[in-house]
Amino acid sequence: MAIAKIDTLELAQQLIRCPSVTPLEAGALDLLQAALSDLGFTCHRLPFAEEDSPEVDNLYARLGSSGPNLCYAGHTDVVPVGDPADWSVDPFAGEVRDGILYGRGAVDMKGSIAAFVGAVSGFLAEGGQPRGSISLLITGDEEDVAINGTRKVLRWLSERDETLDCCLVGEPTSNESLADMVKIGRRGSLNAQLTVYGTQGHTAYPQLADNPVHHLARMLDALASEPLDEGNAHFPPSGLQITSVDVGNPVTNVIPAKATAQFNVRFNDIHSSASVEAWLRKRLDSNIDGSRGARYEMTIRVSGESFLCPPGPWSGLISAAVASVTGRPPELGTTGGTSDARFIKDHCAVAELGLLNATAHKVDEHVSLADLDQLTAIYRAVLEGYQAQ
Ligand SMILES: [Zn+2]
Repeated sequence: MAIAKIDTLELAQQLIRCPSVTPLEAGALDLLQAALSDLGFTCHRLPFAEEDSPEVDNLYARLGSSGPNLCYAGHTDVVPVGDPADWSVDPFAGEVRDGILYGRGAVDMKGSIAAFVGAVSGFLAEGGQPRGSISLLITGDEEDVAINGTRKVLRWLSERDETLDCCLVGEPTSNESLADMVKIGRRGSLNAQLTVYGTQGHTAYPQLADNPVHHLARMLDALASEPLDEGNAHFPPSGLQITSVDVGNPVTNVIPAKATAQFNVRFNDIHSSASVEAWLRKRLDSNIDGSRGARYEMTIRVSGESFLCPPGPWSGLISAAVASVTGRPPELGTTGGTSDARFIKDHCAVAELGLLNATAHKVDEHVSLADLDQLTAIYRAVLEGYQAQ
């Protein structure tokens, strides 16, 4: 069967024209499934649902049945556009102006998906034979709660005894120029709400009260004045940012009964959310004077744990592919927010490489056609490097 090459730009435009704001599929997975089926992939649609979360559709496509299985992971869902009137183009038109493709999802991450499919089609059309299998794990549930997406597809794969041997996530990781950074891990994140309870009273008779604001001030100082750690070779130091202090006391002559604060902790792989919580409680316990009954409550919501896939053969292969196209190896970093790589890392070696993140989630999100071409070439070089191993 002759394989027809798929044009990266055309596919990216078609994908952008599907208004697939989470949790809507809006035709984006249908489009990919059709393109991948033409390339010989076996496709599985995997809609998942759960109480209190909307049903979301996913796609797993695999070419070949033997191992090893090289997987590309991505998402076709996009964040909302905000007020369309703020855009200088229709956010779902996939318009090209002066060598730049505009639209919601251009960099995060329909452009990357199109580049990978374009790279695979070129590789196959020119006689490339995958070593083992090539697969794509595409979810429609990354940008929102990520309950019915990658995590459940991975579970479905495990139940079928289907393994991934290495995974490239196409999130936008580039900072200043295309492929200047490959991500090999991510920091964890948690949010805490702290409430200190004291005893209400008259400001003129403090001996009859117990001021929770004074306790809170000392406790927050203890949290913010000392770093959690010093970082390591792959991560900066973990950081704590106090984001709000609230007392809500409208009068000047009453010592309030309680005071609250909230803070966010971004932690590296020296810590887990459990060790961060222990660190926090130790400092809070030793900086509250409970002799007159003051006490605190803290609730913690974990957004994600930190992880690192130490530099190895997979990140090395990707770095070499980047260098062969751009002329310089990428930095291996761990900055930024969270991604589905946090689920995939439990299954195989994972690294992330995609377009520039400068306009992700913004008005007038865009990608240059030159970057689309270059990312296609880099993904192609990854496929060739993997075949040659
Ligand atoms: Zn994304």
